[in-house]
Amino acid sequence: MQDYGIKLWSNNDFCIENGYVKVNYKSRPSLYEITQQIRDTGVRGPILLRFPHLIHKQIDTLYKEFNRAIESFQYKGKFHAVFPLKVNQFPNFVSHLVNIGEKYNYGLEAGSKAELIIAMAYNNKNAPITVNGFKDKNMITLGFIAAKMGYDTTLTIEGLNELENIIEAAKIYKDPIPNIGLRIRLHSSGIGIWAKSGGINSKFGLTSTELLEAVELLKKNDLLDHFTMIHFHIGSQIGEINPVKKALREAGNIYAELKKMGAKNLNNINLGGGLAVEYSQHENIHNRNYTITEFTNDVVFLLKEIAMQKGVQEPHIFTESGRYIAASHAVLIAPVLELFSQEYTEQGLKLKENNPPLIEELYDLYKSINPSNAIEYFHDSLDHMESLLTLFDLGYIDLQDRSNTEILVHLIIKKAIELTQDKDRYELKRIQDRVQERYLLNFSLFQSLPDFWGLKQRFPVMPLNKLDQKPTRSASLWDITCDSDGEIDFNVDYPLFLHDVDLSKEEYFLAFFLVGAYQEILGMKHNLFTHPTEVTVKIDEKGFELENIVESQSILDILYDLDYDINEMQSRLKQLIAQSECKEKEKILDQLSILLHENNYLKISPKERKI
Ligand SMILES: *Cc1c(COP(=O)(O)O)cnc(C)c1O
Repeated sequence: MQDYGIKLWSNNDFCIENGYVKVNYKSRPSLYEITQQIRDTGVRGPILLRFPHLIHKQIDTLYKEFNRAIESFQYKGKFHAVFPLKVNQFPNFVSHLVNIGEKYNYGLEAGSKAELIIAMAYNNKNAPITVNGFKDKNMITLGFIAAKMGYDTTLTIEGLNELENIIEAAKIYKDPIPNIGLRIRLHSSGIGIWAKSGGINSKFGLTSTELLEAVELLKKNDLLDHFTMIHFHIGSQIGEINPVKKALREAGNIYAELKKMGAKNLNNINLGGGLAVEYSQHENIHNRNYTITEFTNDVVFLLKEIAMQKGVQEPHIFTESGRYIAASHAVLIAPVLELFSQEYTEQGLKLKENNPPLIEELYDLYKSINPSNAIEYFHDSLDHMESLLTLFDLGYIDLQDRSNTEILVHLIIKKAIELTQDKDRYELKRIQDRVQERYLLNFSLFQSLPDFWGLKQRFPVMPLNKLDQKPTRSASLWDITCDSDGEIDFNVDYPLFLHDVDLSKEEYFLAFFLVGAYQEILGMKHNLFTHPTEVTVKIDEKGFELENIVESQSILDILYDLDYDINEMQSRLKQLIAQSECKEKEKILDQLSILLHENNYLKISPKERKI
């Protein structure tokens, strides 16, 4: 039996029961029944499931843990948080996030003008808005408009020229002037594949010299009282606690120094994001060496200590965690379309009256393989295959012989795996390293798991059912793009085993977990495969309900987004058909029109196929 490391990565959000993976909440529906219900409406292709209760859980945990630490250390500052929109800007995520966040005064962070517009339209009335990233005058103007709308807005300065633009805007727009934050460039930096945002060579933030200059500029322009926050962000997915502590010490001391220089309204330290998520489904690999409890304790304790040492007021603590809040809420369901070796069946075998001797030998191996000789016969069959393929290249055997070879070797491999199942894992492993099954999935890796494509970030993956049966095939996963990078290879360091299923008899789906942060918006439209069909799943004691079903874009919409004139395109198609020799033109036009309105993913139900 295999549990796909569910205890390591799922944070108890999901569980396995009676062979199914279930959402571990209230009525505990299985992902299989949710998927089937969606497919019953005609949806094919990949499905992105959103679970709002998991957004709630993460926000609640973040506030609870910080407030617990604040209470236990008798810390005098308060805890505030905003969600960085760059992590997920999709409306069906943001609307739930904002609703859930209302009672916590949870705000939004924007890193571009378009994100700021989302924040201005939907942020909770009394919740903060922070604005980071490089800003032009127009973005600063938007910040002033947000302040005029009544939002508690903080513009974080990434460079001195931005400050000059704010000073200019303050003269034009006057009160209310947004709060001003300064992003500091830390000497310490994060670690890991996402850590280029911090450190002395970072793309962002003011050096000590620039900080001093900024304070001078603010003073000179009578704006020092609007300076309320210092900000840093040492990178995303910070897997170890030490860099966080180091950065906090540095930031805490900068805070105290600036305070002493007369920044009397500077009361907030904004730690940015970086809170890590555990993606590993393998016991020996960990992406995170701390818990949220340890993280919050360390932050509160360190800031208290620095404030005491320096004799300044304990600052309010601000965070901008995105990955931690959003990752778990979304699960990608990908239907398996094909097992590549499935075509190798005994029925397919067409042995001749007289076969080449090596094929006769292969056939004997297949007939007489048993638990005690399985490994040996497996090795022999691979040797024979090598020789037979060479014979084919040299012209000594024909295509029928070659086909028989492939079928027999695959049948022997399958039998060997079956026969060694209950034996020594080591032997089984030796076989599996050499013979993988390739699973073709109806999804695009470029669209739905871009961080695997770009950074080799692995996401937990498992089948939706059969979890009470031992998976025997070492699996590599292939997407439907025409690109050899669209593969998650079988890797002995991260082995994935799946079931040997006959897709003509049953359906088989894989779920990728923790895909709610960054993956959606970073997704690429390679081969024009766009965002999958998304569905929000609300679960209560009685069952579950499907809401906000947004089907993956139709072919026409995809082409429209590429700036094709789709009206002209359709009349061209119509004209070309009219001019052609084909019969039943009306019927063909109707058919074409239906296809243009469907989405781009494969519309195949394995059950419908004749094998
Ligand atoms: C990206 C980013 C975040 C979010 O980081 P996570 O690791 O997703 O929590 C927060 N603040 C800033 C300034 C960022 O650039």
